[in-house]
Amino acid sequence: MEELIKQTASQQRKALLNKEVSAVELINEEYKRIENIDAQIGAFNSLCKEQALETAKKVDEKIAKGEALPPLAGIPLALKDNINLKGTKTTASSKILENFVSPYDATVSLKLKENLIPVLGKVNLDEFAMGSSTENSAFKITRNPWDTNKVPGGSSGGSAASVSGFEATLALGSDTGGSIRLPASFCGIVGVKPTYGRVSRYGLIAFASSLDQIGPFARCVEDAALLLEAISGYDKHDSTSLNLPVPAYSKALTKDIKGSKVGVIKELLAQGVAPDVKNAVEAAIQKYKDLGAEIVEISLPLLEHSIGVYYILATAEASSNLARYDGVKYGYRTQEAKNLLEMYTKTRAEGFGDEVKRRIMLGTYALSAGYYDAYYKKAQQIRRLIKEDFDRAFEKVDILVSPTCPNTAFEIGSKISDPLSMYLTDIGTISANLAGIPGMSLPCGHDADGMPIGLQILAPALGEEKMLNMAYAFEQATDFHKKQPRI
Ligand code: GLN
Repeated sequence: MEELIKQTASQQRKALLNKEVSAVELINEEYKRIENIDAQIGAFNSLCKEQALETAKKVDEKIAKGEALPPLAGIPLALKDNINLKGTKTTASSKILENFVSPYDATVSLKLKENLIPVLGKVNLDEFAMGSSTENSAFKITRNPWDTNKVPGGSSGGSAASVSGFEATLALGSDTGGSIRLPASFCGIVGVKPTYGRVSRYGLIAFASSLDQIGPFARCVEDAALLLEAISGYDKHDSTSLNLPVPAYSKALTKDIKGSKVGVIKELLAQGVAPDVKNAVEAAIQKYKDLGAEIVEISLPLLEHSIGVYYILATAEASSNLARYDGVKYGYRTQEAKNLLEMYTKTRAEGFGDEVKRRIMLGTYALSAGYYDAYYKKAQQIRRLIKEDFDRAFEKVDILVSPTCPNTAFEIGSKISDPLSMYLTDIGTISANLAGIPGMSLPCGHDADGMPIGLQILAPALGEEKMLNMAYAFEQATDFHKKQPRI
């Protein structure tokens, strides 16, 4: 049983169908694991046992009757605590939403229900998904299962740590500038940010609406493909969702990549990359060559501006999205206000953490009269140029590869007082959000301390099938994903 919770979704499915274990037993075993280990990891903000067991019971009933089951039915999942699930607390790891209970389901949560995927609970994040280490949560820090003195990455640190620490088999996170790919890379698992609009954002607590996407975490590419398939699709509640059919992503995993063109992003392998990371990614490129791909060097000269552009656009959008937390309709309200204005200002001063306040101030400044043209408008123009750089690159190659992050997981506390160095961890990931293209991270090695290294794969918009198959071919030809933390 202990072994089973460390396995992939497809292995667990086999055990369910062969009646070696029931879905209820599997969920109970996960809760036992969470009880034993989560004090060391700190992944979960809250549990929803009743809901999870109810779903598991439905799965068992179907198995008993011999009815057909959706591919991930009964497989335990952890949900990022900025995604609404009816009847559960959705806090965004912020004091301002500490006691907020979701009155409705996010579209992805409904899809999980339709697919009979039990949600174990809600997992920690940087407050409002702002951060790269999960140290910005108002409640607690989450630790990396590979070394609990290190961060799991962020902002979906709880999602990645729960899967990597065997507290869940699958997880959902959100990625605005790398928040799925970075923690996947730091925790040695697979994480996918889909094309902008591929997955509905309805019911996701908005951070920067032109960049946010929900996506899967899993222990292997196949599981990630299955989960992506389950959550993708058009939604009338999200006008930015794409009205296009959803391919059967798992069927695209053929391993056949002969003749594919792999672009190597020159700038992301240049200076500032840790030697172990560089070596692992170069070895991965060699592996692609051995598997029959053609390697092409690609230069994306505007990439160096992506962090600056992102921190103008993301903060501007955040300052607007977060205006709704004023103590009136929902969430925290100060006890001490003498009048309405004081109620607003005190509620926000007491309810938001430092990083969120920093973003609101930066964003408000970028949007203010007289500065709009110099900052926001210019950033939008450069965003367009970055997208066009990618368009040109994808005329020459099928996918682009790079390190997901220039370094492996860092020590807890080492970057928290230096926001700029924290922001720089996103240099590899942010541009995909600016361009709206899909990206993913998968294990490609370990550094001298045994910490996981992630390979990032980017593809043109709606190129998920190609991207996943390229990842699958690499995974099946290597053993990196099989190494697990000893926690
Ligand atoms: N680390 C980036 C930030 O702090 C990205 C966060 C995210 O993708 N949600 O904004």
